[in-house]
Amino acid sequence: MKAVVFEGFKTFPVLKDVDKPVPGPGEVLLKVAGSGACHSDVGLFHEFPGDPTGFLTPPFTLGHEVSGWIEELGPGVTGLNAGEAFLVYGPIGCGRCKPCSRGQDTYCQDVPSVGYLATGLGRDGGMAEYMTTNARNLIPLGDADPVAAAPLADAGLTPYHAIKRVLPDLTTPGATALCIGLGGLGLVGVQILRAMSGATVYATDTKPEAVAAAEKDGAIGIPSEAAAEKLQELTGGRGVTAVFDFVGAAPTLELAAASVAQQGSVTVVGLAGADFPWNVFRLPYEVNFSSTYWGTLEDLHEVVELYRAGKINPEVHVFPLDQALEVYQKLVDGKVSGRAVIAP
Ligand code: NAD
Ligand code: ZN
Repeated sequence: MKAVVFEGFKTFPVLKDVDKPVPGPGEVLLKVAGSGACHSDVGLFHEFPGDPTGFLTPPFTLGHEVSGWIEELGPGVTGLNAGEAFLVYGPIGCGRCKPCSRGQDTYCQDVPSVGYLATGLGRDGGMAEYMTTNARNLIPLGDADPVAAAPLADAGLTPYHAIKRVLPDLTTPGATALCIGLGGLGLVGVQILRAMSGATVYATDTKPEAVAAAEKDGAIGIPSEAAAEKLQELTGGRGVTAVFDFVGAAPTLELAAASVAQQGSVTVVGLAGADFPWNVFRLPYEVNFSSTYWGTLEDLHEVVELYRAGKINPEVHVFPLDQALEVYQKLVDGKVSGRAVIAP
């Protein structure tokens, strides 16, 4: 079968023939329905100087935002049927430690016993015709469209987890939120904030068309020029309750710091990796500044419930597998809007 294989850091991936995988005990073989092209893949093959974790050892097939239909059950798997559609929770931990026991495989305390982080991140993922994963990692999609659902496995789950961490602040009347960077993650972030919080949602991006897309989803668009001044004006000088930076570059961290309210929060989701020099006067008093990573299995069930209820609906552009490398090049060049999904 054909697969998009990551062969090394600072090395563009290749589309090649690989063996069709065989499901092991407790696993299933999925026929891939959709596989989202995430900017983190660009981080892997284009931006990162090397492995930041020690568990992303090439080669492996890319694709950590995957949906598919069951093709075959591995030994010991019962209660699932061929042809049913599922979204895949990518992270795979040891399954025994405390974080794994609450479905937070992202923070598994025994990664060395597993040897990789997730399907598509150290273990073969879904930029291919077929992939295997643990039966535990499947979220039922019912009759919802599996191709458009694929990005939810990361571009939905990551903003959902980030938003849920600060949700109590966003249910207070008068609360405001800001999404910086309106690509795959940021646009779904706007939809989740609108669906769950009641906060006024501001959204900014260097690309005017991305700002326009967020406005269609109910955000107040802020052009990136003089965004900090505009946000101060719109919030009566109080600043924004919760800022989500889906880029993580120097100018976006600067904008986050200049826009956040006292006792508010800045959550850095984007992995551009810029430094943020801090001292006690750098941010308004009592601001919580944190990173975040992906989400839990339970979170993903909740994301799928929002999707099946029609409350979130990622903007997807679908391409065949033989165009996957062109899609990744477009992502490198900043020419993808919404989320590009490969449907093999
Ligand atoms: P994307 O390429 O789809 O979108 C990025 C958007 O940011 C684009 O619309 C771009 O125009 C905009 N942007 C870039 N520089 C900007 C700037 N200076 N000011 C305003 N907007 C700017 O990317 P994506 O797939 O949505 O991923 C976003 C980031 O999140 C990436 O860094 C990715 O690696 C990271 N990520 C993190 C996690 C996590 O768990 N923390 C999970 C998935 C992705
Ligand atoms: Zn991702």
